[in-house]
Amino acid sequence: MTHLAATATIHHATTTATLPDALPALPVILAWLTLAALVWALGYAAACAAAPFARCRRCDGHGKTITPKGRVRRWCRHCDATGLRLRWGRRLFNYLRHL
Ligand SMILES: [Zn+2]
Repeated sequence: MTHLAATATIHHATTTATLPDALPALPVILAWLTLAALVWALGYAAACAAAPFARCRRCDGHGKTITPKGRVRRWCRHCDATGLRLRWGRRLFNYLRHL
């Protein structure tokens, strides 16, 4: 008589979730992100100093909205028909200067 016994083996999960060694440590990533933010801020400050005005986003610098036939629909109210807007960095600079 054969005895068929069900054998149940319990495998414990031995794999642990570890980060690969190739990834840099968190302080290194934060240092690079901080450096990138500083470079971006310096570039944006230079852009605000060199060209404080940018094209109006609403009318795309035309100062007016145009019908498909090419006629003036209305003058842009967001830029007072100048087609220019002040960059927010320059606006912040002006605000801080007048404190
Ligand atoms: Zn406009």
